[in-house]
Amino acid sequence: MATTALDLAKVRNIGIMAHIDAGKTTTTERILFYTGVNYKLGEVHDGAATMDWMKEEQSRGITITSAATTTHWDDYTLNIIDTPGHVDFTVEVERALRVLDGAIAVFDAKEGVEPQSEQVWRQADRYGVPRICFINKMDKVGAEFQRCVDMFSEQLDANPLPIQLPIGAESDFKGVIDLVRMQAYVWSDEAAKGEMYDTIPIPESHAEAAREGHDKLIEILAEADEEIMELYLEGEVPTVEQLVPAIRRATIAGTAVPVLCGTAFKNKGVQPLLDAVTAYLPSPLDIDAVNGFDPKDSEKATELSRKPSEEEPFSALVYKIETDQHLGKLTYIRVYSGVLETGTQVLNSAKGRKERIGKIYRIHSNKREEIQRVGAGDIVGVMGLKDTTTGETLSDATNPIMLESLSFPAPVIQVA
Ligand code: GDP
Repeated sequence: MATTALDLAKVRNIGIMAHIDAGKTTTTERILFYTGVNYKLGEVHDGAATMDWMKEEQSRGITITSAATTTHWDDYTLNIIDTPGHVDFTVEVERALRVLDGAIAVFDAKEGVEPQSEQVWRQADRYGVPRICFINKMDKVGAEFQRCVDMFSEQLDANPLPIQLPIGAESDFKGVIDLVRMQAYVWSDEAAKGEMYDTIPIPESHAEAAREGHDKLIEILAEADEEIMELYLEGEVPTVEQLVPAIRRATIAGTAVPVLCGTAFKNKGVQPLLDAVTAYLPSPLDIDAVNGFDPKDSEKATELSRKPSEEEPFSALVYKIETDQHLGKLTYIRVYSGVLETGTQVLNSAKGRKERIGKIYRIHSNKREEIQRVGAGDIVGVMGLKDTTTGETLSDATNPIMLESLSFPAPVIQVA
């Protein structure tokens, strides 16, 4: 049973958002599938066992069925928070946005920005959620990368930062050029074995477009990040080691939005997307302290805050209650500060009542893992809470806090 603290710098709490049909489910499944294979590969060191496991997973289909699914990429822990995409679930979308630290916005390469994607984008703006854009369905007839990029600035008021250029489109979509590292990834037939692409030098046919794309990337970043601006003004060319943290800073500050592309249902582009999630989206440590007030103070005059640290008193927000088919009632919480252990008592700050924490679970796509403790920055399901509902704060009984609630009512939505 896991008892050690997570390295928060290596945690990514992310959501995947999209207009219906753009490929949110497929992208999520491919992420879970590939991170699962990768994790498994490291665990078993046995090709045959891996293939068996993959076949089994493929036949069952890996679907995100819980409010938060944990997986691993390299030595990172990814908590994927289910972000409902349908307009009727706007309140649920807002709750999900409240607990995640970053998001992947998936678009259809032909349709570009659609009404629901715009809707969720605006909600993410309201919560200041850093994002990366994934232009999916590059294989589709009518797929146009640049048109989508233009739509991001025109319709979403975003500052798109293409960090890739597609090599070909529609049935001729062969790979992508990485404009940061200036190399090309071409899709590999070995994809089914977990090797998704071959890295090659940029093909001569794309050399000029790649150079222009790289220059443009630096130009956009100079506007979005002071350090790159300084280098730019001094006439220096930033290195990869300077570009990567600058893209990360700009993404977290919301001054630029990295744009990638692929064809999720053929696994193309999923691995670079995962690398972008770990490189550019924030960890819980990048998020400011959360604010709240003393629950005993009905005037809400005593403002309190909690930093994302295990040294702080425990605080968490309940964002979803679900009935798990194996475990029964599971209460999903985002822990903002401190540590929670099995069997301890916590205060439901809204009701002023104590509740005992039963078992704590981390939910993976193929198993439920019981853990004994969960610390700041993490998202888990807990059992045993009898009288706690969505949106309520749980906190240390001796250091109570009521976290700031969500801003309801949700805005009126118009779907074209
Ligand atoms: P969601 O509604 O956003 O969750 O979309 P889904 O993931 O369910 O995908 C909608 C449809 O698009 C399904 O029929 C998928 O098979 C298909 N799809 C997903 N990714 C791609 C892709 O990269 N290219 C093409 N052509 N179709 C895709």
